[in-house]
Amino acid sequence: MSVKQSLASWIASENLESEDSIAERRVDWIRILPFIGLHLACLGVFLVGVSWVAVAVFVASYLVRMFAITAFYHRYFAHKTFRVSRPVQFAFALLGASATQRGPLWWAAHHRHHHKVSDRADDPHSPRHGFWWSHMGWFLSRAHFATDYRQIPDLARFPELRWLDRYDLAIPVLYAASLFGLGVLLERWAPGLGTNGWQILVWGYFLSTVVLIHVTLTINSLAHVWGKRRFETTDDSRNNALLAVLTLGEGWHNNHHHFPGSARQGFYWWEIDISYYVLWMFERIGLVRDLKSVPPAMLQARRIDRRIDRHS
Ligand SMILES: [Zn+2]
Ligand SMILES: [Zn+2]
Repeated sequence: MSVKQSLASWIASENLESEDSIAERRVDWIRILPFIGLHLACLGVFLVGVSWVAVAVFVASYLVRMFAITAFYHRYFAHKTFRVSRPVQFAFALLGASATQRGPLWWAAHHRHHHKVSDRADDPHSPRHGFWWSHMGWFLSRAHFATDYRQIPDLARFPELRWLDRYDLAIPVLYAASLFGLGVLLERWAPGLGTNGWQILVWGYFLSTVVLIHVTLTINSLAHVWGKRRFETTDDSRNNALLAVLTLGEGWHNNHHHFPGSARQGFYWWEIDISYYVLWMFERIGLVRDLKSVPPAMLQARRIDRRIDRHS
């Protein structure tokens, strides 16, 4: 990829051919300048200070977008564990895109590939290829820049989703600008809150997004090395309660690799899965339908924990 192509990729993620060779696994520094800038902008917190409303916006911005990533980018787009109407599909694709983790097609394509070859040589982000590679090296390299349309023929049918995937930076920019506007309005209409446009931008977008991105990425890195294994899957996936709380349910990653077709990743009542509770409520009000669950036989199949019990 040339310097010109790297720069152009900031604006439109054209489906540039990337060869999966050793050279393509190097970090593409020019293309990822916006990603580096995202982290540096967090230092702005020393200039803008803090207020209760800024912290509230930080938390809300994290939770709403984490839900869009786990419930929609992951459980809907990548795994089709429930059904939605086309407008709802697009609305949550937009919300997911504001999380600044590329478009839904790119995300789902890489994730489906991960499930097919998890922790084997072809896995885009196995910790067996290095912990930092699994956390962020993989998507900062050229090898994983393009969207592999062969993984997502069902999603690529929708022109609005292809558009989102191509202009994946537009939505985060719009989202950040809206938060800045919110801060400006709050400063004018409620000066007692002690906030302003720059403060809401830094807390609600930059800090919130960086935390959101890295917590999401722990599922590719930490959730394949840290935690307990209940099921004998062909990969190293783990169940981790702390990651499950932080990611709104994604930490039950060994459950998920055992049966990816379930909208629910916490298989038991004590396995907290906030995204699933919200999806369950969405089903009640008709926003989503046909939430798929785990067949009882799958709960018993390939158990590691019970086998250990029997032998001890
Ligand atoms: Zn995994
Ligand atoms: Zn998955």
